[in-house]
Amino acid sequence: MSSMYIHIPFCKQKCHYCNFFTTVSLKSKDRIVDSICKELRLKRNFLSSNKLSTLYFGGGTPSLLSNKDFDLIFAAIHKYYTIDDDTEITVEANPEDLNKDKLLHFKQLGINRLSIGTQSFNDEILHQLNRNHSGKEAINSIVLAKELGFNNLNIDLIYGVPGLTENCWEDTLNTFLSLDISHLSAYSLTLEPKTTLDFLIRNKRYPPLREKDSLVHWNYLLNFIKNNNYEQYEISNFCKNSSYSRHNTNYWKQKEYLGIGPAAHSFNLVSRQWNIAQIEKYIQDIDNNINFNGSELLTKNDAYNEFVMLGLRTKWGFSLKEVKKRFGDNGYNYCLTIISTDSFKKYLLDNTDKVILNEEGLKIADKLASELFIV
Ligand code: SF4
Repeated sequence: MSSMYIHIPFCKQKCHYCNFFTTVSLKSKDRIVDSICKELRLKRNFLSSNKLSTLYFGGGTPSLLSNKDFDLIFAAIHKYYTIDDDTEITVEANPEDLNKDKLLHFKQLGINRLSIGTQSFNDEILHQLNRNHSGKEAINSIVLAKELGFNNLNIDLIYGVPGLTENCWEDTLNTFLSLDISHLSAYSLTLEPKTTLDFLIRNKRYPPLREKDSLVHWNYLLNFIKNNNYEQYEISNFCKNSSYSRHNTNYWKQKEYLGIGPAAHSFNLVSRQWNIAQIEKYIQDIDNNINFNGSELLTKNDAYNEFVMLGLRTKWGFSLKEVKKRFGDNGYNYCLTIISTDSFKKYLLDNTDKVILNEEGLKIADKLASELFIV
């Protein structure tokens, strides 16, 4: 179960809410692609198996890369790793980049899943967020991708945006439904420090975010999902016909992964490692064969805390047997004591031998997870 994440740190313009490591300058693109290829070689022994179960291009905006850039990266992947028909290969794409030529090239390379950064189908909301596409462009890109055979599709949507009325949210979800997309990731707009959104709100040039609005949208979404036969398999992720994101599921199930590219993180079950979040320094590090810029060893308590937190977010929950196996009597007894209290039990599904949150529990999953933490 080896997963690989490749971080492409370029965007055409910066969305107001975004705090990911990205740059709008493309001047170092060719050198970054070159460094990514070198890093694929440098870290060829990191994973326990070089047969990749999932490969994920995220960012940034990977769809900004040219066909030639993708060819170079895939040539390096094929040289040092194994991917086959069974590998889930996802590319995050923005609607404005998806044309017939690019999509056909993706097909040739074996890319079989697209995650299209849509956020909204409403032009006013897209403008507020400083997205670089219109609602119509988003629809066209989804239709084109489907016509060319991409059936494993995700789109991202954002709610809790000031000015997103209930009617507008309903329209957005109805458009999603009409496009017959197998997977949806829906996130509440959050205020990250040092973003343009943060600046605008502090200077009273944009209304503050209201938790109340976000909750109304969230409740509407959950009903919508249920009524239309989508399954909530993680707090913010929904799909039909079991089209789970295998890549993200590997994260949630704490499988190993290798992160390539500036700012990318890796995990080998024992420790977490990361690359520097600076373009020039990253290129230098790779040229000097420096494997990672930083690392942290997970203590047993860290690993336990992460295990229960990630498990509680998903429909699979976690098993107490697994807690005992991985974290010994200490973790097991602590967990059992907490989940046996009436105040915790009422948030659990009770017809399973696993610890799985019910609908009410999922609404406060983070709070419940913190009650299980060993500090
Ligand atoms: S396209 Fe994505 S990564 Fe780039 S600025 Fe917008 S939200 Fe951030």
